[in-house]
Order: sequence, then structure tokens, then C-alpha cells
Amino acid sequence: MSIIVQKYGGSSVADAAQIKQVAGRIAAARDKGHRVVVVVSAMGDTTDELIKLAYQVAEHHDGRELDVLLSTGETVSSTLLAMALKNLGYAAISLSGAQAGIRTDTAFSGARIKAIDSKRLVTELEKGNIVIVAGFQGITEEMDITTLGRGGSDTTAVALAASLGAEMCKIYTDVAGVYTADPRLVPEAHPIAEISYEEMLELSTFGARVLHNRAVELGELYDIPILVAASAGGGPGTLIHGGVSMEVRNKVRGIAHDVHVAKVTIVGVPDRPGIAAAVFQPLAEAGVSVDNIVQNASIDNITDLTFTIAKGDLARAMAVVEPIAGQIGARQYLSDTNVGKISIIGTGMLNAPGYAAKMFSALSDKGINIQLITTSEIRITCIIDEAKVKEAATVLHRAFELESGE
Ligand code: ADP
Ligand code: ASP
Ligand code: MG
Repeated sequence: MSIIVQKYGGSSVADAAQIKQVAGRIAAARDKGHRVVVVVSAMGDTTDELIKLAYQVAEHHDGRELDVLLSTGETVSSTLLAMALKNLGYAAISLSGAQAGIRTDTAFSGARIKAIDSKRLVTELEKGNIVIVAGFQGITEEMDITTLGRGGSDTTAVALAASLGAEMCKIYTDVAGVYTADPRLVPEAHPIAEISYEEMLELSTFGARVLHNRAVELGELYDIPILVAASAGGGPGTLIHGGVSMEVRNKVRGIAHDVHVAKVTIVGVPDRPGIAAAVFQPLAEAGVSVDNIVQNASIDNITDLTFTIAKGDLARAMAVVEPIAGQIGARQYLSDTNVGKISIIGTGMLNAPGYAAKMFSALSDKGINIQLITTSEIRITCIIDEAKVKEAATVLHRAFELESGE
């Protein structure tokens, strides 16, 4: 009997009626004779609300307590889903991440799965149970509960699919698949039929939150095809897999945007060896991940250093930058939270000139100023004014003819 792994996101289980509806869909998969493992996210905006509550009681909290708090959101939805299934007459059991054997490192709020001990899960499947696993969480060697980072239930699902040897992992969400751009931002965006792991990894890393980037990483590593589709049904969804033909790859596939970005500039830095290490080493030690780094050409051995980080990391980053700026003799340091990232992604741009020029001129035609540029082999990202992100996404979607379909 084949094992299928399905994941339902928070907006698909936002209330009791939706939970009952999802239970019906799971029951239908079971009726087809599959062994079914379901990963579920917290109901609706529960995680946001729990975070808000935590900040209402204290400005600072240690990661351990916060992760236990956040993990409760998925406990609620997984138990309710199991109850709804039992009510339909199906054998079902809910398991927390820890009970499902998901072992992680100790990086609270952004833990990585180190191993999965699927014994209990397999036993429950053998007993004939539909197993509902609370997403987004795991447990350390010290038995502390961790969470995997926002959107991490997708990663739970793909990791379980890999460890159980499932043929595919199905991610059910509130949109009909992976679109050419966020459909909330660009109404002309449409679902992509299939996309490679590498393109999807860039899309999700650069803002397409429809799929957690580590889920894509695991999918590629263990060769698990991932189907993203609407939980309400209708439409084939998007298949992310390794066998996408070059023909389909041969153009810009999608636009990603991210407004959870902050820019930090250290002004008047002496241009000598060791300065970059002096800044970025302590940032890394503080757990701040830095992505776009630009160092200007120096004049009279003085330069400026600019980098971007996640908005949520700004306070932590500035606490590190403040003393270092003094130590290295920088003139001043500045931060800006009114910035956003806009990226074009596609293996088609590999070794093909012209994409960058087309992107920059499409933005400049609309008077959108580019503050920083970074690239990978299959991506070009511009940092722009946050207020211009929607317009930029729309204009790039048109410039690269994404509205015309595949
Ligand atoms: P879930 O609760 O199911 O995990 P998420 O809110 O995490 O759902 O992700 C789905 C959302 O991702 C969509 O509602 C959409 O606004 C957003 N999104 C961003 N980029 C894309 C994209 N390229 N394709 C589809 N959805 C996208
Ligand atoms: N509930 C968590 C979040 O909101 C995990 C998830 O939805 O995947 O980030
Ligand atoms: Mg999600």
C-alpha cells in the first residue's frame, strides 16, 4: 500500500467548518487505499497571534519558551483534525513533532531537522490509522521543543515524505499552485504547471512564501516531487521536480518579492584587510543572516559597506553593528526599513545576456530607483523602495511576458 503525505496550511484549516472539509478530503484519499500521513499548520493567523501575545508580556524572551508557545498552534489543529476524522468513522491519531520522531538542532525559531525516527509513525500506519502530524516543530536531544521557522510545516511534510519513502508530497494551500508572481500582488499572475527544484528554491528564498525554502531543499536532496495545489480543489497545481525539460526552463519563470527587508549601511569605513570579517563574523555569531552585501569602491581608503537582512533581525543586527562601527573607526551607521526586494528567476538566464538590462530598464521606465543589485546564476535581485514593490512586480511580469502563459 503506497504512502501519501499531504500538508494543509493554516488558511485551509482556519475554522471548524474548514477542518471538517479537510477531513473529508483526507478520508477520500484513505478510501482510495492509500496509507495517509497528514501534516497540518496552525489554524488561520494563530501563529501571528501567539507571537503578538508573547511581545505583549515581554519585549525580550528566550527562544525556548517562545518555541513551546508557538508549537501549541499546531497541537490544536492536529488534534481537531484527528477528532473530525474519527467523527467521520476513520481511524486517526494526532502526533506532535516530537512524537513523530522529528529531531532537530537547538536553533530555536529556525531549527533544522537532523533526523527522523519514524518508528511510532510507521506503527500507527500499520495499525490502520491516518496519522496527523503537527507541522513546524521538532525536539532537540535535550527534549526541548523547537520550531522550524515561519512556514516550516512545508518542511515537516517533505521531510516525512522522504523518511517514509513516499512517492510524492502534496502541499495544499489557499492558491492554485506556484504562480508566476504572488497573485495577491500581481492579479495577472497564473499558476505554473511545473518548475525545477533550483528555480523554486530561488523563488521561495527570495520571498514566494507559498513553499518554505527548506522544503524545496529537502525535496531536491531526496528526489521527492512536491505538488502545490489548492486545498479547495480545482486545477492541477504545480509540480516541483527534477525532470523539467530545458524547453520549459528556457525563460524567466517567475517574479519573487519580499518586503520583510532592512538595509544597513556603515559609512566611512577604512578600506583595509579584515574589516569585512570584523563586521560579518559577529553578525553571523548573533544568528543574523546577511544576504546582499555591497562595498563601494574606496576613495582615499575610505569606503561604505551596505547589506540587507530580514526586518525582524534589525534590532539584533544593530546591537552588533553599534560597537563594531566604533571599533573599526567608521564615521556612522544607518538603517532603513522602507526597502523591498524584487527578483526575476529562471534557468533561462544562465549564460544568456540581456536579462539584467531588460530588468533595469523596465524599472527605470517607471522611475523606480535601484539601490542595490545582486545576482545568482539564475536570479537577479534589486533592492528598491518598499512602496514601489507592487509596481515593480507588475511591470517586470509584463516585461518578461509572464502573463501570456507557458
Ligand atoms: P499556507 O497557510 O497554506 O502555508 P501561505 O500563506 O504560507 O499558505 O502561502 C500561500 C500564499 O503565498 C498565497 O496566499 C500567496 O499570497 C503567497 N505567494 C507568494 N508568492 C507566491 C507565488 N509565486 N505563487 C503562489 N502564491 C504565492
Ligand atoms: N504556523 C506556522 C507559521 O505560521 C508554520 C506554517 O504555517 O507552516 O509560520
Ligand atoms: Mg505556508
